[in-house]
Amino acid sequence: MEVETIVQTRSKIVADDDYNAAKNRNKSDKGEMQQPTQIIWKNVVLMTGLHIVSIYAMSQISQLKIFTILFGVLCYITGMVGVTAGAHRLWSHKTYKAKLSLRVILMLMNSMALQNSIFHWSRDHRSHHKHSETDADPHNAKRGFLFCHVGWLFLRKHPDVMEKGRKIATDDLMKDPVVSFQNRFYLPLSITCCFIVPSIIPWYFGGETLINAYCAAALRYCISLHVSWTVNSFAHMFGDRPYDKYISPAENTIVNYFALGEGHHNYHHTFPYDYAASEFGKGWSLSTMFIDFMALIGQAYDRKKVAHETLHARMKRTGKLSNNDAIDGTPLTM
Ligand code: ZN
Ligand code: ZN
Repeated sequence: MEVETIVQTRSKIVADDDYNAAKNRNKSDKGEMQQPTQIIWKNVVLMTGLHIVSIYAMSQISQLKIFTILFGVLCYITGMVGVTAGAHRLWSHKTYKAKLSLRVILMLMNSMALQNSIFHWSRDHRSHHKHSETDADPHNAKRGFLFCHVGWLFLRKHPDVMEKGRKIATDDLMKDPVVSFQNRFYLPLSITCCFIVPSIIPWYFGGETLINAYCAAALRYCISLHVSWTVNSFAHMFGDRPYDKYISPAENTIVNYFALGEGHHNYHHTFPYDYAASEFGKGWSLSTMFIDFMALIGQAYDRKKVAHETLHARMKRTGKLSNNDAIDGTPLTM
């Protein structure tokens, strides 16, 4: 596998970002945090409605046709990879490059996830990394499990999120015609990809009732939201921290399985430019497999991977390795 390796200097920049974020986090911990409590009722109503339909769908699950269930699983994977390999690893972090055809496919897959447009998702995610666990982090885990899991969507953004979010570089995003197209037509695109197509296909091809097909689509959407949110909540609270013990993001195996390879969160926050979002060869990642397959057929290229020397040096400085551990150039095992 040919991947580009990044050397020490890049690690230093990331480390400096971590240091600044930690400094700001300390300020917040000392009582400067002001939590806005203005509720966005529209989001509360929409999310409540989604959960009511999803609970009804769960009660009807034994009535669903096998085609509907299998198609729901396919839609789950499609939407999730649209977020993980698309909005996250391609557009937010630029961990690899993709040809126009792949970017169009990822944009449609991402629209199926209905987690905000690629532009807004990536801007918020860049803020999350740059200002991790400070008031400028949109889903600051220091504000508690409920807030970072879902509450942040129900409350007006903290003034620091607005102010510092405006300074996040996004020029590259809007220069991509695929991103700007999705941003312009986001509502019809996402409703079509997330609900209309996933309702019509089981009804037309699988003989499902239209109402059951719609409820199954809503349930799949609801599950995919919660799984994505676990990366912000569980993977910021529970797990091992072998790469940087000074930050909260952790290695969470359970999140990793459901989020298709996004659970190595201590590694990802330490090395956000790594296309695999995990140490080489470690953990199951459908998202990485997807990118690798796309590279195999010439659709993805310039995949960035952390050099072993950089990984070892960082683990000695901030992680679990001591200065006596040898640098042998082979992947580390835990
Ligand atoms: Zn995170
Ligand atoms: Zn990230």
